[in-house]
Amino acid sequence: MKITNYIAGIEQTTTDYIPNINPATGEVYGEIPRSKREDVELAVRASKEAFKTWSKLSQSERSKYLHAIADDIEKNLEDYARAECIDNGKPISLARSVDIPRSIQNFRFFADEILKFGTESFNTLDAGENTVYYSPLGVVACISPWNLPLYLFSWKVAPALASGNTVVAKPSEVTPMTAYMLGKTCERIGLPPGVLNIVHGLGHEVGEAISTHQDILAISFTGSTMTGQKIAEASASTMKRLHLEMGGKNATIVFSDCDYEKTLETTLRAAFANQGQICLCGSRILVEKSIYEKFKTDLVAKVNGLKQGDPLDESSQQGAVVSKAHFDKILKAIETAKSEGGKILTGGKALKEPGFFIMPTLIEGLNQNCLTNQEEIFGPVATIEPFESEEEVINMANANRYGLAGSLWTQDIEKAKRVALQIDSGILWINTWLLRDLRTPFGGMKDSGRGREGGQYILKFFSNTKNICINR
Ligand code: NAD
Repeated sequence: MKITNYIAGIEQTTTDYIPNINPATGEVYGEIPRSKREDVELAVRASKEAFKTWSKLSQSERSKYLHAIADDIEKNLEDYARAECIDNGKPISLARSVDIPRSIQNFRFFADEILKFGTESFNTLDAGENTVYYSPLGVVACISPWNLPLYLFSWKVAPALASGNTVVAKPSEVTPMTAYMLGKTCERIGLPPGVLNIVHGLGHEVGEAISTHQDILAISFTGSTMTGQKIAEASASTMKRLHLEMGGKNATIVFSDCDYEKTLETTLRAAFANQGQICLCGSRILVEKSIYEKFKTDLVAKVNGLKQGDPLDESSQQGAVVSKAHFDKILKAIETAKSEGGKILTGGKALKEPGFFIMPTLIEGLNQNCLTNQEEIFGPVATIEPFESEEEVINMANANRYGLAGSLWTQDIEKAKRVALQIDSGILWINTWLLRDLRTPFGGMKDSGRGREGGQYILKFFSNTKNICINR
């Protein structure tokens, strides 16, 4: 199937195409526009035109459009879930229960949240009164990755639109399908032309054209730290406002006084959900020495119990990784782990071919300074290592350039808070993982991020702030 760009409310074809590959079979099953600078230019022009009216709509009118988008995705949930599964290689059960419902929730959440976004007032004793006003920026861009395609695309597009901006959005060229379908949804619900423009293509072409475009005022990006750096460099001369969500190499910390069964089950999920391709995955598992051997043995048994196979099979818990390039990168990282002295406890190889299946892999015997524990693998590969004290585990968790998230497991809540406060990461879960309240700030420290998404944080990112001070 040949997909198209969605610009100025209509499907736009291009001259060049790149293949779309099904990671479960390794076969080409579609074509993706290889857009050029001219296509980005067309999208920016359409966005500028649409901004004149979209920015003037009331918050409740914009809210209605976002709810209509959510309704339409909901109506077509099964088609969206199937498309996400085929495009990405993730199990259909995950696409149906997480990716698409969360995409719907993103539109609904910001449809409601924008109604709570208003002015703020500060009384300055008897001297005056300050009022802070928020207004849309103009044309903004959203650039998203392949691991949670529609989930992360909509997590940016929804607040950008809700706050009155018009958008040029670029999904990953590895998983373009559900973004294409979102364009169809926008057509069906009658979103005014040019309000959302979706331009497909390669990062160094379309992404670069977005980063350097004079009339794009802000970029919200999710992807690798290396690409985040490139966007920061390329956009510097146009002084864009940047929000960057980047890599993660998160620790799961297991104390001996944890709720054992719940910890074991969630540690497994945190390491291997979506084939370990979630920026929040706990790929460094740190276990208190007194329970290390038992926990390791039980975790290996759980990993071995994961059912891996055809992503379209309802019972599959592990699917394929997203592409051949990523498959090769992960297998290479496993070889690096072995050469660093890592012992493969389970997995460690490809499952079957054709298709890009890698067995969930657990490795022990590596310290935190080796490449395996330093670099993102972003696949079904986790390491496990014992620790003896609070101080030691804090140092181990922090011995990394990333600082996105982490989870820690203990029934001693005071200890949990004490440790959590000393870990350099933007998000810490205690006795849970991936429990999300969309109002809370989401983002990383160190090389994991700049800025925060979520609730009013991202609405402010997408807005101009003006303070008006009146003398009494
Ligand atoms: P990526 O950086 O390769 O690509 C992300 C997006 O950026 C894609 O749309 C791509 O086309 C585009 N891009 C690539 N080069 C570009 C350039 N020079 N200029 C502008 N845009 C460009 O990342 P990926 O491989 O798609 O995704 C995996 C990465 O994303 C991992 O590092 C993962 O940790 C990260 N991620 C982070 C979060 C988070 O919230 N922090 C969430 C999900 C994924």
